[in-house]
Amino acid sequence: AKSLGRGRHHFFDVGLRERMQRRLRMEQDLRYAVHDGQLWPAYQPVVDLRTGEMVAVEALLRWTHPRHGAISPAEFIPLAEESDLINVIGKEMLRATTRELAARRVQQGLDLTLKVNLSARQLDDPHLVPAVQDALAATGLPAGALCLEVTESALMRDQEAAAEVLASLRSLGVLLAIDDFGTGYSSLAQLRRLTLDTLKIDRSFITGIAESRDAEAIVTSIIAMAHAVDLTVIAEGVESAEQLELLRALGCDQAQGYHLGRPVSAAELFDQ
Ligand code: C2E
Ligand code: CA
Ligand code: CA
Ligand code: CA
Repeated sequence: AKSLGRGRHHFFDVGLRERMQRRLRMEQDLRYAVHDGQLWPAYQPVVDLRTGEMVAVEALLRWTHPRHGAISPAEFIPLAEESDLINVIGKEMLRATTRELAARRVQQGLDLTLKVNLSARQLDDPHLVPAVQDALAATGLPAGALCLEVTESALMRDQEAAAEVLASLRSLGVLLAIDDFGTGYSSLAQLRRLTLDTLKIDRSFITGIAESRDAEAIVTSIIAMAHAVDLTVIAEGVESAEQLELLRALGCDQAQGYHLGRPVSAAELFDQ
């Protein structure tokens, strides 16, 4: 058992060194990317299920690496979260997307809600609230046209602190959403106390909704619970017409997913 342990230790060290080197390189590349304009926001439509109209867009960060091509935010956001980089990126994302949407409102008369994701670490940043305020003031986007999305797990990490930041954000007049709902363990009481506007049902529950009675039952109860505390419900990851019809029948308010539109550049979404 001892030699096996030592062997595993050695194997682990080699893998660890490689992983650390790769991560270090990627972090250096990411720092450079921020200043080199390699990061850009894609926008995905959010559709109202009663009218079928696009009512919002979610901004999703994209990194086009000069050598490696597209790198997924699922890979580089966690990396950015390990340092102050996420705060720099997050602020720039807020700036760029509020500017874009404010311009589209004026030029094209588009009345859309802009959804921007906040990471757990941004909630701890004392400069977050002033940064949101600055972005709105600088671009003229109405506060009520901005909705900030925070994941259920980020909210549950330090509930007291999260509630405080959300209250400050709310006092600016922005809307607040709980993202990836169903993957954590929040209760109805906690949801109510956080005074949110929107609840996004995690894609994992939507995936099986047309095939599995259990998935349908879970989504049905999340919708009922959310409506009981006056939250607008959005289903994410809708990939088929069947899923869309079922969600409409279940009383879900809005939906988002490849079936309705993939995340694309502002030009692709607004200038067709
Ligand atoms: P999220 O906030 O839950 O965003 C939804 C993700 O689902 C996006 O992945 C989107 O492209 C993808 N998606 C949308 N519709 C469908 C569908 O029908 N099927 C499938 N399979 N996927 C769909 P993406 O763009 O790769 O982003 C992944 C995650 O990275 C996001 O999850 C969010 O947590 C994070 N992220 C993205 N942009 C930002 C950002 O600007 N700031 C922060 N803090 N996090 C971000
Ligand atoms: Ca989101
Ligand atoms: Ca989500
Ligand atoms: Ca998700």
